[in-house]
Amino acid sequence: MTAPLEPRPPGKRAIVIGAGLGGLALGIRLQSAGVSTTILEARERPGGCASWQAREGFVFDAGPVTITDPDSFAELWRLSGQDMAADVTLEPVAPLWRLSWPDGAQLDLSADDAAMRQAIAQLDGRDLAGAQRLLDYGGEALREGPGRLGRMAFPDMRSMLKALPPLAHHQGWRSVYGLVASQIGNDRLRQAFSFHTLLAGGNPLEVSALHGWRHRLERDTGLWHPRGGFNKLVMAMVALFERIGGVIRLGDPVSRIEMRGDQATGVVTQGGWRGDADLVASNADLMHSYRDLLGQHPRGPRKTEKLARKQWSPALFAVHFGIRGSWPGIPHRSVLFGPHYQEWLTDVFQHGVLPADQMIILNHASVTDPSLAPEGCSVFSALVPVPHTGKLPIDWGHMAPLYARRILDEIGQRLIPDIHTRIVTQFHVAPNDFAADMRAHLGSAFSLAPLNSQSLRLRPQARDAVVRNLYLVGAGAHPGAGIPCVLGGARLAAQAMMEESL
Ligand SMILES: Cc1cc2nc3c(=O)[nH]c(=O)nc-3n(C[C@H](O)[C@H](O)[C@H](O)COP(=O)(O)OP(=O)(O)OC[C@H]3O[C@@H](n4cnc5c(N)ncnc54)[C@H](O)[C@@H]3O)c2cc1C
Repeated sequence: MTAPLEPRPPGKRAIVIGAGLGGLALGIRLQSAGVSTTILEARERPGGCASWQAREGFVFDAGPVTITDPDSFAELWRLSGQDMAADVTLEPVAPLWRLSWPDGAQLDLSADDAAMRQAIAQLDGRDLAGAQRLLDYGGEALREGPGRLGRMAFPDMRSMLKALPPLAHHQGWRSVYGLVASQIGNDRLRQAFSFHTLLAGGNPLEVSALHGWRHRLERDTGLWHPRGGFNKLVMAMVALFERIGGVIRLGDPVSRIEMRGDQATGVVTQGGWRGDADLVASNADLMHSYRDLLGQHPRGPRKTEKLARKQWSPALFAVHFGIRGSWPGIPHRSVLFGPHYQEWLTDVFQHGVLPADQMIILNHASVTDPSLAPEGCSVFSALVPVPHTGKLPIDWGHMAPLYARRILDEIGQRLIPDIHTRIVTQFHVAPNDFAADMRAHLGSAFSLAPLNSQSLRLRPQARDAVVRNLYLVGAGAHPGAGIPCVLGGARLAAQAMMEESL
């Protein structure tokens, strides 16, 4: 289905600060609707979290490696009558996930219902009916969450109050884990049906059950790998944006949003570039946007104070490694659970300590796409959620090499016995690196935590409440972090900006 064209206001100019996925999607939407749009990116490369590195013949995607719901990307191409398939080839990823535990038990999550039932029965046949109820609930949550609430703006409390009755109906006051535990008894299946919120920075023990749509979305739309790596998808978005007339400038951070009264009039970059605009949107970290870019206007310090009191999602510690050998038995995406799931979550999210055991999200992209590694080699990345630097203010410069070693040791023990002797190249990204590189407050990988107290109206909206032609897009704004939400947020921001410019 072709998405309707948005109305075309004549001669409007927009500036988008940041070329993360949200910034790029917003830029494409605006430019497709006839708004002359310039995207300004601080780093030399676009993509934000979805960045990459090429080393010694390996291509490392340093952020997400797969997408769900390819149509949410394809829609961006359709806005200008183009076809995403001409620019990006998507390969299916199967199984969706392999989950494993220290004693060797494992469970493959699959989009195939029969295979899924069989896998569940092998762990605990008594939970088959409960698992089906959770799948059904995931469908409801998908319609209610991204399908309805994620498409709504919440300009005032009244709009939020209207949304509350359906939330109560769907038991939105319960946690994801609480709901899962009420339906299935097996501890490992409880982990399997609740861990997905970690990919949006949410603690399954705390975030609303309504976040339980992610496993259902994966089952419905599959998981997809852009051939050549996630970087190909990012570069295809940039190429699309430029083809339809957008301008992107890389490697020059915005240092200030220019103001006249309560009106944003443009931006200035560190390199001295100045641009005027009718509409300014920030895809940069929320705290950076208000504290640093809007610091000279009273709105900046006021909002900064409020943001400082919020709860921020954890950081990620990442180890990327290219090794000799092929590992066809290790699928594209795995989770290596530790022995104590709930204790581990509480340590990372509440206590702010590095737990003794780890939970590792292991990506093995070259099993789907051998072009990412030299012949006879494989490319992996291991992601471990860790407390953000506000909760755990340790010297990562000292700790990081030791922690990377610990993660590799664990993978060695469980999957690749001689891992250390096989490594051709490796590097790690610690929370302090991420904080500096992305200007991310506290090194948080997913911005504000997706708690009920920080969602819907209680999360920053696409349109700033005071500076009316300033907009927010990306993980920090409603509907939140993770690729599906960030793309949904770009739709909301584009709508708000188009309304303003009419
Ligand atoms: C390692 C990792 C793995 C992930 N895996 C998954 C996954 O599997 N599934 C999933 O759904 N989500 C995943 N996520 C989350 C998802 O990638 C993010 O939520 C999403 O990409 C954030 O997009 P964004 O639009 O908020 O922009 P960001 O990625 O935050 O980018 C913001 C951009 O703004 C730029 N910027 C900042 N300040 C300035 C300035 N002053 N001037 C100009 N530019 C500036 C930054 O350089 C950056 O490019 C992962 C995140 C990470 C870090």
